[in-house]
Amino acid sequence: MNLKENILNKLHDVEYIDFHIHLENNSPFELQNNILYLANSIDRESYNATLALSEMNRNVIVIPGIHPARCQVENWPINLLEQIFSRSVLIGEMGLDFHWIKDRGTDSQQRKVLRDQLKLATKYKSIPSLHTKGAEEEILQLLKDYDIPKSVIHWYSGPVELIPGFLNQGAFFTIGPDIMSGSEIWKHIPAERMFAETDNPTGVPWVKGRDARPDDIVEIYRDLACKMDVTEQDLIDQFKKNLRNLLGN
Ligand SMILES: [Zn+2]
Repeated sequence: MNLKENILNKLHDVEYIDFHIHLENNSPFELQNNILYLANSIDRESYNATLALSEMNRNVIVIPGIHPARCQVENWPINLLEQIFSRSVLIGEMGLDFHWIKDRGTDSQQRKVLRDQLKLATKYKSIPSLHTKGAEEEILQLLKDYDIPKSVIHWYSGPVELIPGFLNQGAFFTIGPDIMSGSEIWKHIPAERMFAETDNPTGVPWVKGRDARPDDIVEIYRDLACKMDVTEQDLIDQFKKNLRNLLGN
């Protein structure tokens, strides 16, 4: 079974999808049966650790990628990365960060590592999950330049004026934990292009000032459903439908 079929099959067994989480340091015993965890990696080491976890827990899908914060130190040989990307319908976390990463000396390496990954995304028709902090306009241009027809913009917090351009370029968006602290970005994103994520183990603690929990995504669904004036079940059904559409089914 390929990864796409694997993800689609698992949708029958779960309710919630945590569309962006980092699990390389988490115990499989904490994870919940009713949540599908799309577990992004940030480098080769985190990919291998998450892969090991995914082999022990059916609800964990490992997603390979090199995060902008790791681009200076990561030396994942491109041929090995290509082998993995060639069989991964979803890839990332990848992107650019000109906000949290303060050293502007890393910018050219960030761009090179992202371009290398986008080239492979084009070649294998993989769907990238993108970190865009402080580089939203440049990422949108890159999606056009590399002719990427589908992408996932992770926890977007950039200018709302750019959102229609991303939507025109086929992007989906994940709503992050800052919905729980009043972010209104969800108002600008159509329900059929939306997912939700925790970005744990650091996302919810950053917003809420408490430890991450394995079912944090449920709280985010509830908050979002309430604000969108739909039922939690509506959102569960919508996000599963969105994932099928994203994957082309
Ligand atoms: Zn992340």
